[in-house]
Amino acid sequence: MAEYGSVGHRHHHVLIVGGGTGGIIVASQLLRARPGLDVAILEPSGVHEYQSGWILAGAGLLPYEQTHQMEAAVIPAGAVWIQDSAASFEPEAQRVITASGDILSYDVLVVAMGLQLNWSQIKGLPEALGSHGIVSNYSRAHIAATWSAIRGFQGGTALFTHPATPIKCGGAPQKVMYLADDIFQATSGVGVNTRVIFCTALTQLYPVKAYNATVERVAARRGIETRLLHNLIEVRPEEQVAVFEVRAEGREPSLEEIPFDLLHVVPPMAAPDVVARSPLAIEGQGGWVEVNKLTCQHKRFADVFALGDVSSLPTSKSLAAIRGQAPVLVANLLAKLDGQPLLSHYDGYTACPLITSFHSVVMAEFDYNLQPVSSFLVDPTKERWSMFLVETRVFPWVYWHRVLKGRLHESRFIKPFAPLVRALGLAFKQP
Ligand SMILES: Cc1cc2nc3c(=O)[nH]c(=O)nc-3n(C[C@H](O)[C@H](O)[C@H](O)COP(=O)(O)OP(=O)(O)OC[C@H]3O[C@@H](n4cnc5c(N)ncnc54)[C@H](O)[C@@H]3O)c2cc1C
Repeated sequence: MAEYGSVGHRHHHVLIVGGGTGGIIVASQLLRARPGLDVAILEPSGVHEYQSGWILAGAGLLPYEQTHQMEAAVIPAGAVWIQDSAASFEPEAQRVITASGDILSYDVLVVAMGLQLNWSQIKGLPEALGSHGIVSNYSRAHIAATWSAIRGFQGGTALFTHPATPIKCGGAPQKVMYLADDIFQATSGVGVNTRVIFCTALTQLYPVKAYNATVERVAARRGIETRLLHNLIEVRPEEQVAVFEVRAEGREPSLEEIPFDLLHVVPPMAAPDVVARSPLAIEGQGGWVEVNKLTCQHKRFADVFALGDVSSLPTSKSLAAIRGQAPVLVANLLAKLDGQPLLSHYDGYTACPLITSFHSVVMAEFDYNLQPVSSFLVDPTKERWSMFLVETRVFPWVYWHRVLKGRLHESRFIKPFAPLVRALGLAFKQP
C-alpha cells in the first residue's frame, strides 16, 4: 500500500472515490481478480467505520473498539491511498479535482462516497444534540451518550423518529427503540413508567410487506405507539418538545407538538453536496449518482460506476446491499476495461437485520421486487435467536476478516454450513 499527499496531476486505471465499505470491498475484489491492476482510493478519513456495529456498540453488544480501524489497515495491498477528498467531478474530461487542487484522471471511476447526514435540516437540532435528553446512534460521537441516556432513563415519554428521506439501514431507527424498550421494561419493576412512541414520516413501519407484518406485531406486543406520516422538523430543547409535520391524504399538512423526556433522532439524509451538484447526479431526485440498476454503470458516462449509499440503485442503503452490488460492479468494470459487454446483473439484494430484542433478530433480506429472500435457508420473517447470534457475534468478524478483504462474494449462501445453519435456525426460533 503506497500513500502520498499532494501530487499535482496523476492518472490511474481505476480511481475509487470513497474508502468506506463500498470502496474498500470493490478495491479488494478488483485486486483479487486482477493482481497488479492500477487502483487508487481517494479517501480523506484516517479511520474506517463499521457503521453496522454502531447500534450494537451502543447497546453493549459489541466492544466499541470493534466498530472502527485505521484506514491504512483496510487499504488492500496493491492499492494506492490518496488521503484527500473529491471537490468536483469532470466526467467529460475523465477527471476528479481534489480539495487540495490536485487533478486525478482515470480510465474508469468508481463513486463510493456514501451519503451525508443533514442534521441542520431539523430546526434547533445541531445545537441541542447531546443535551435535554436528545440523542442519536447515527452519530459515532454520540453512541456512548445515547446508551447512557437510555439506561439512566427515569421514565416519561421516549420518542424515536424516522425521517422522510432514504436512510442508511432503514430498520436501524427501530432497532435502537426495541433494545431501549427492553431496558425500560426491565426497570419498570422498580417503578420507572415509560411511554414509547415511534414517529415515522413513512406510511408503514417497514417497506416490505412480510417484514412490516412482523415489526407491527413486535411494536404491538411491546405496547409501542406508532405514529405514521410524522416527520420531525424542529426540536425545542428547553421545553423538551418535538415538532412534527403530519401528512394525511386529502388534507393540508398540519403541525403536531409532542413533549418528550427522551428523544432519539434519525436525521434526514441525502447524497453528498459535491455529488449532487455534479454532472453525475440525477437532477432533482436526491442527487444520487445515476446508474443502471442492473449493471451499476452510469447511465450517461460509460466509464463511471457507483455503488452503495451514494448510488441511485433503487434498493435500501445497506452494507448487505453492497455485498450484492460489489461483485457485479467488479465484473462489469473489468469487462469495460477489456472492451467486453457488461453481462453481470444485480438483483437488488439487500438486508437489514432488525434487532427486535436482546435475544432476537429478523434477518429481513429482500430483492428489487420487495420479496423476502433467505441466505440462511430459514424463514427470514421470523424473530430468531440464531440470527441474533449471527448479527452480534458472526457479522462483525466476517466484515473485518472476509468482506473487506474481498473474500465473501462468491456466493451469499453459506453453502458448506447450510445444514448446520438450518438446524440452528430451527432450534433457536423465537416461540
Ligand atoms: C447506525 C447504522 C446502522 C447500520 N446498520 C446496518 C446493518 O445492520 N446492516 C447493514 O447492512 N447496513 C447497516 N448500516 C448501513 C451501512 O453501514 C451503510 O449502508 C454502508 O456503510 C454504506 O457504505 P458506502 O461505502 O456506500 O458508504 P460509507 O461506508 O459511508 O463510505 C463512504 C466513504 O466516502 C468518504 N467520502 C465522503 N466524502 C468524500 C469526498 N468528498 N471525497 C472522497 N471520499 C469521501 C467517507 O469518508 C467514507 O469513508 C448501518 C448504518 C448506520 C449509520
